[in-house]
Amino acid sequence: MSMNTQGRPTGVGTVGTGASGSALIPDEPLLFEIGDTEHSGVDLPDVTLSNDRLGGFGRKTKLDLAGLTEPEAMRHYVRLSRMNHSIDSGMYPLGSCTMKHNPRLNEKMARLPGFSDIHPLQPVSTVQGALEMMNQLSHWLLTLTNTAAVALSPKAGAHGELLGMMAIKSAQEARGQAHRNVVLVPDSAHGTNPATAAFLGYLVKSVPAREDGTVDVEAVKSALSPDVAAIMLTNPNTCGLFEPQVIEIAKAVHDAGAFFYCDGANFNAIMGVVRPGDLGIDAMHINLHKTFSTPHGGGGPGAGPVVLSEALAPFAPVPFVRKGANGLEMVEHMEGDALGRVTAFHGQMGMYVRALTYMLSHGGDGLAQAAEDAVLNANYIKARLQHIFSVPFPDYPTMHEALFDDSFLKETGVSTLDFAKALIDEGFHPMTMYFPLVVHGAMLIEPTESESKQTLDRFCDVMAELATDAIAGNKQRFTAAPTKAPRRRLDETRAARQPVLKWEKPADLPQAAE
Ligand SMILES: *Cc1c(COP(=O)(O)O)cnc(C)c1O
Repeated sequence: MSMNTQGRPTGVGTVGTGASGSALIPDEPLLFEIGDTEHSGVDLPDVTLSNDRLGGFGRKTKLDLAGLTEPEAMRHYVRLSRMNHSIDSGMYPLGSCTMKHNPRLNEKMARLPGFSDIHPLQPVSTVQGALEMMNQLSHWLLTLTNTAAVALSPKAGAHGELLGMMAIKSAQEARGQAHRNVVLVPDSAHGTNPATAAFLGYLVKSVPAREDGTVDVEAVKSALSPDVAAIMLTNPNTCGLFEPQVIEIAKAVHDAGAFFYCDGANFNAIMGVVRPGDLGIDAMHINLHKTFSTPHGGGGPGAGPVVLSEALAPFAPVPFVRKGANGLEMVEHMEGDALGRVTAFHGQMGMYVRALTYMLSHGGDGLAQAAEDAVLNANYIKARLQHIFSVPFPDYPTMHEALFDDSFLKETGVSTLDFAKALIDEGFHPMTMYFPLVVHGAMLIEPTESESKQTLDRFCDVMAELATDAIAGNKQRFTAAPTKAPRRRLDETRAARQPVLKWEKPADLPQAAE
């Protein structure tokens, strides 16, 4: 046994080394179980505060943080990270979530001191380069969508939806149409659409999908009324299909005095190929963390800029960048109809840099090719698996994602959930399950343009082998899965309802025997 500089024993059993579990799959204790609250990982001189400037609210008890050495702390987090699947460690085929490779060039650019070492309260004359970067990103988003204005600041798709719908609400009020209190939402929509409309006080009226998974313009027309403020439509939709009547739908909506909010989270399927402004959209969020390869899903914060049509442009929120007499300026105070801030400061600057880097490194033609490759990859998966998996909407070629349902599992006793868990044992992150809701037992697979044919083939081989095994009656393999992951099936409901967020000192526990 050795001692560290604080005289604390290290390397005792699992404590300190953390190397329990089996082979290289660690079973990681908490920081408080590795360290202890009696020692510190750093040596700080004792400070005696001469005068209390906290009005008597200063801490009276010990801080009780776990003391750890630098390698102990680092190993803890590295070991935890190895318990997670990530886009850097394997294919991550979550449909709708668009888990693309995060190019290292993006990271390099985001770390340039001119972007990473600046502060939002710095005088604008000292951050002209950063403002120019925001300006260029806006230019690319406006050009790709053919729209009139863009709000960069929303911090996720759902946040962007909220802003877009706030702009629509303000525009209806400005037209003297504040009584319009209904928002149409097709029943294939992402859950954030009805949630956003309801959050703003709208009544949500759903529009049924056709048998083929698309929205019928006639169904939209019959749902439209003088009470309708807007429709929220996803295109390509959540079944991975391009809405064939989207232009007719836009026209019908506008003729009825309503606005067209487009959920643009799936813009990665059409960027550089279709400009949503040409389809008649009024507002659309673009998830930089999906379409433009910025990290997400635990890897980084989201960013959901919203583009706005001519009619909604006056309502774009502050802050925004504009050319002034002395170069670029940041408009921070509301002018005219502009909405107020939806976020502190200017939004996710680091993600702006990464997204613009992705755009510039691809160029306009490269972005179109990325979209086409994403669509090709999804159609390849569909073509390779449709002989064994059931395809709910076989009439159309798919866009960026391949959708299967659970009818091929009928009478096997294996559910979509079991099937997804078995995929973990084969080294793949599961696909999106049970979404879209319009498809029973849905499995939504989105390979993106990141994956090579070799990876797609390996994935399809594994999927086909699993399906064959399920149909052959080997139920046990699926209901027991995952057996090779650091954790088996967790009680996710209990974890959400009764989260244990605080470590309690096991003070009452008797000292462990020698
Ligand atoms: C991801 C997604 C959203 C929400 O985006 P977040 O950034 O997760 O808030 C909305 N709609 C669709 C179709 C999506 O795929």
